[in-house]
Amino acid sequence: MTNLAHHINSSLSKELHAMIYLLGFFAQKKSFKVYAVGGFVRDLLLGKENRDLDLVVEGSAVDFAKYVAKNLPGQLQCFERFGTAKLSLSKGIVFDMVTARQEFYAGPGALPDVERSSLKNDLYRRDFTINTMACALNPENFGRLYDFFGGRKDLEKGIIRVLYKLSFVDDPLRIIRAIRFEQRFNFIIEEETLTMLRKAIGNRVLEKVSKERLYNEIRLIFTEPSPLKVLIRLNEMQLLKVIFPRLEFNERLKERLRRLEKGITELVESDPEGKWNYFILYLSALFYDLSEHDTAYLCHLMRLRRKERLRLFAVLKKTPKAIPELKKEFIRPARLYFLLNEIPLEGLLLMTVLEKNDPYLREHISYYRRELVHRRLLTNGDDLLEKGLTQGPVFNRVLKSLHEAVLNGKVSGKEEELEYLSYLIKKNNMYQETGEGEK
Ligand code: ATP
Repeated sequence: MTNLAHHINSSLSKELHAMIYLLGFFAQKKSFKVYAVGGFVRDLLLGKENRDLDLVVEGSAVDFAKYVAKNLPGQLQCFERFGTAKLSLSKGIVFDMVTARQEFYAGPGALPDVERSSLKNDLYRRDFTINTMACALNPENFGRLYDFFGGRKDLEKGIIRVLYKLSFVDDPLRIIRAIRFEQRFNFIIEEETLTMLRKAIGNRVLEKVSKERLYNEIRLIFTEPSPLKVLIRLNEMQLLKVIFPRLEFNERLKERLRRLEKGITELVESDPEGKWNYFILYLSALFYDLSEHDTAYLCHLMRLRRKERLRLFAVLKKTPKAIPELKKEFIRPARLYFLLNEIPLEGLLLMTVLEKNDPYLREHISYYRRELVHRRLLTNGDDLLEKGLTQGPVFNRVLKSLHEAVLNGKVSGKEEELEYLSYLIKKNNMYQETGEGEK
């Protein structure tokens, strides 16, 4: 009987380690049986920490989750109808809890104890053998590994294998998942599984899945270490044209994605806290050459949220226009600021990687992020009102001129700003008096 207590001790961070012990303790106290399952156990055996914990609860997952939430501060969501609950704690630790059902397998000649049968039943519904292992958390058998379907052997051999023949027909999204795991771990899709996968593709099963589910799964590709590898494999399997119709996966696009991945690695090293959105970043690179019409079509197909669509369009429309100016040696700081201020962060990163060899562009963007975004106006609208200006075009123009002067380093500090403000107001009044107001 294999026990994973040692893996838990050695591979997990202190906080996750403590949480897991606590879960077992709570379960015992309230007479539940709790198992960590799926990706968490797989990653544990690979020596990696996975903070997204799937838990199978014998008893009621909702009741257990409510009890845990009383004792650990976090955000609890219960889905009573499905017998599931999600508890999000701090530091990205999430517990997804499901109730183990006990109906199946319990007939004569099947597995004798209900405990194992309900757990096994839950695990049998999962996608691949490597995701079917469970680890007991109750103190009485803490760390005990349940491996009903040969998951550990497949994990050691690096094999992706479905549990039964019609798996890809039952849930076509497993096709995408198989490819994603194959590429993430550099595993191999087992021969029979691959045959079934290809057959399912041939039968166009993915077209039967709702767009919401399909594109929720597709989004996960962009959280992988190398989305490009997954896209290349999907293309080999003739799936990319199903997922992104109208997109030509040509050498130019691959080269752009290659540069992007290389650039991201460097960026993450230099700016680990960077708050860019990988999904938007990759979509921008993917759709860069598409017409506005085709991009809009794909956004609709993918059910992009309004906010995401606006961000993506801002990148796609504004970056190609900004690039020629950014390639010039000299740009006044204020001009640079107003040019880049309109472009989402993903657009700045994309331009940096696309124009990697340009001597000026990268420097301009870096100067903007390093310096200009911090060069804020100390004067605000109230100061302008105090000086007798009223809201309107002149008000906005004066404020912008003042901001330009600050960005260009012409004035600095509140005192100088106020002085310059008086000068600008005077100048504008003069224009107004001579009728030259809106120049
Ligand atoms: P990741 O490291 O990508 O989070 P994961 O295995 O934890 O990997 P999730 O998408 O979080 O993946 O899914 C959690 C578990 O739910 C999986 O381990 C798997 O057992 C199961 N699962 C997810 N999607 C499916 C599916 N389409 N069919 C069957 N089981 C699935």
